[in-house]
This record gives sequence, structure tokens and C-alpha cells, in this order.
Amino acid sequence: MSKPQLTLVLAAPRGFCAGVDRAIKIVEMSIEKWGAPIYVRHEIVHNKFVVDSLRAKGAVFVEELDEAPDDRPVIFSAHGVAKIVPAEAQRRNMIYVDATCPLVSKVHIEAERHHSNGLQMVMIGHAGHPETVGTMGQLPEGEVLLVETTEDVATLKPCDPARLAYITQTTLSVDDTKGIVAALKDRFPSIVGPNKEDICYATTNRQEAVKAIAPKVGAVLVIGAPNSSNSRRLVEVARSAGCDYAQLVGRANEIDWAALEGIDSVGVTAGASAPELLVDEVIDAFRDRYDVSVEMVETARENIEFKVPRVLRVAE
Ligand code: SF4
Repeated sequence: MSKPQLTLVLAAPRGFCAGVDRAIKIVEMSIEKWGAPIYVRHEIVHNKFVVDSLRAKGAVFVEELDEAPDDRPVIFSAHGVAKIVPAEAQRRNMIYVDATCPLVSKVHIEAERHHSNGLQMVMIGHAGHPETVGTMGQLPEGEVLLVETTEDVATLKPCDPARLAYITQTTLSVDDTKGIVAALKDRFPSIVGPNKEDICYATTNRQEAVKAIAPKVGAVLVIGAPNSSNSRRLVEVARSAGCDYAQLVGRANEIDWAALEGIDSVGVTAGASAPELLVDEVIDAFRDRYDVSVEMVETARENIEFKVPRVLRVAE
């Protein structure tokens, strides 16, 4: 029996960003340099496939520093950590390597600069996400006010409404964040913000690409993990760009084939922490069931690369 025809529309850019790539290299190079086990505080990036592969090479993932021994190197994840974490590692004389994405570190520096200029910080982010926890933890407890929605802006109680600055998590929805920033500026006209959005290039580019494919297809699959902020935003962006059926899938075996019945075009993208190998796996799963033609919609080209820390660059 002949297979039904289906067009897969691949969004580009998709998948790994420079920060994720660097964080994974840091773990691999640390294992090479110091041998296994290497401890990693929190999932190095939010992707089970990546974490499992690194675990197989000798990485041990822990949630808190006190779960790691003093005498093994520890790596801090790409999401960034509160200041108390490296301070504690130093106190314990541990070897540590910080895999915080340089674009997250840039936000940390902004927060400190505003704070030292006497401005109170407002952070637009998701409560409890490790990046938000890490960024808020650059300043003393209680110094950063968190807003998640435009409604939160109305209930903010700053010390001095005329002396405020805002920063954002790097993986937010570009469109939703614009609304929150507008509400902040409306209520606090003198609030100071970043010259350019804190939302990173990778988040912005992946959202633009999914926005371009969503109106053309009957369904969008976003390959990514449920705890990956940028992947979840891609699902929301696809829906608000006009595709009613947009779903997050960790791997090909999570695709709900029944839900795709009668659909002849499917958009595929991947969050910044999802490897291309998983995209290939999804394409192969479609090929098993359909007569597939593949199209690519490219909305930007990326050539950003971040260096690994010096301690891993110098051969010893
Ligand atoms: S999504 Fe952006 S901020 Fe996060 S690791 Fe990638 S480049 Fe860095």
C-alpha cells in the first residue's frame, strides 16, 4: 500500500545554540582533563538525551553543591548560578568550571551595575527557573523584584518608583516580554532597561523561524524538554502564529500519530538544548509512515561561537 504524502517544513535556525554547545563541550573537556567522575550542578542543559549521553561518559548530575564531594571538579550549568554557589565551592577548595552561557553572565553584570548605581532591579522571568534563580542570586536576597506577567506589574511595590531598572530571562517569549516591558514603562516611566533586549539571539531567531512556518502547516512539533523554557515558548509562539496543533515532543516516540491524521504538512523545530540528531530521528519516524518531502524555511543565519574557559583551553 502506498504511503500518504506529507511535507515536513523545517524551521531554521533550530536546535543547539552557542551557549548549549559550549556547556556540553565544557563537560566533555573536563572529563578528558580530570577523568570521571565530574560533577555537574543541575542538568547542564535541559535535555534528557544530552544529560544521559554525558552521564554515560562519566558526568554525575546533582541538584545542589553539597551533593558533590570536595575532591572532584564540579561544573555549573549553562543557566547560571547564584553568587553563593561559586563562593561555597571556593570555601571548600573545590575545582569548579562555570558553564554559564556568556549571554546569561551579561545579564548578571547588568544587574550588578544597576544595583551599584542605586537602582532597584525588576526581573522579568519565570519563578523557580534556574536562570531566574541564578540571576536574582547575583544580588542580596530581596533586592530583585520578579514579574512574570503584565498583571504582576500592577502589584509591584518598589522602594522608590523613580529608581528602577529591569532585566529579563534570556529565553522568554519576545512578544509577551514586549507587553510586560510596556506595562513597566507605563507604570514607571523612568525605569531603565537594557539597550538591547536581554532575550538572546538564539531564542529570538528560533521564535522568528517558528512564526514563519506556523501559518503554513497543519501542525508544529517542537523537539525539546518540558523543563526547557525556550522550547516551551516555541510551542506558544507557534500557536499564537496560527497553528492550533503545536506540541512539544522529547523524541520521535512521543509523537501522537493519531492527532496528525488528515494533516499533510507538519512544521518541525527544536529548542536550543535539543540536538539535531533528535530532529533526524523525527524525520525518519515520519518517513516510516509517510511519503515525505522536506522543505526548509530559513529566517536567519547564525555563526556565533563561545570559547570554553581558559582552564580547559590550556593543555597541561
Ligand atoms: S538559549 Fe541563549 S542564553 Fe540560553 S544558552 Fe543558548 S545562547 Fe545562551
